[in-house]
Amino acid sequence: MAHSLPPLPYPSDALEPFIDRQTMEIHHGKHHGAYVTNLNAALDKHPDLRSRSVEDLLRGIDSVPEDIRTAVRNNAGGHSNHTMFWQIMGPNAGGPPTGAISDALVSSFGGFEAFQEQFAKAATGRFGSGWAWVIDRGRTLAIESTANQDSPLMEDKTIVFGIDVWEHAYYLKYQNRRPEYINAWWNVVNWAEINKRFQSS
Ligand code: MN
Repeated sequence: MAHSLPPLPYPSDALEPFIDRQTMEIHHGKHHGAYVTNLNAALDKHPDLRSRSVEDLLRGIDSVPEDIRTAVRNNAGGHSNHTMFWQIMGPNAGGPPTGAISDALVSSFGGFEAFQEQFAKAATGRFGSGWAWVIDRGRTLAIESTANQDSPLMEDKTIVFGIDVWEHAYYLKYQNRRPEYINAWWNVVNWAEINKRFQSS
């Protein structure tokens, strides 16, 4: 049972003007597509692992056979990270957070704007390629960042949401201006979906 690329939950131009159609098509079709293809290729060497979910593979990364461990780390990470990323964005989204996540952001960071500032700092400060994350620590939320396609699931952490700060996520429209991309990204954040993930985490 091979892993497959999930369709985008909205048309590729739905996040315009904040994230452009061409970026979405390449990012989803080519980059995410390649993580799925490469994950399946790695698992072909250990067919007993094919039935395990990407989340399960990442949580148990240390027990994945050494000859495919790096490939699984990069490609199961890439698959899982991007599947989350498409879901927590959407058209007609953005604005201030709502519901339980709003309360948790305020109590953990002192306010939504204070949170945005710290999150942008983590996302801008990630050298090279990676992600910035909001992690659910039970009673509080925390901001973290990882390199490459590393997933917080590898350390058994609970992801609420994250932003992709690889250049492929923004370079066509924003070139080297990562802070501008991060700033624009708040306009496409789907708080309804994030609340769902938060409440089931
Ligand atoms: Mn990406």
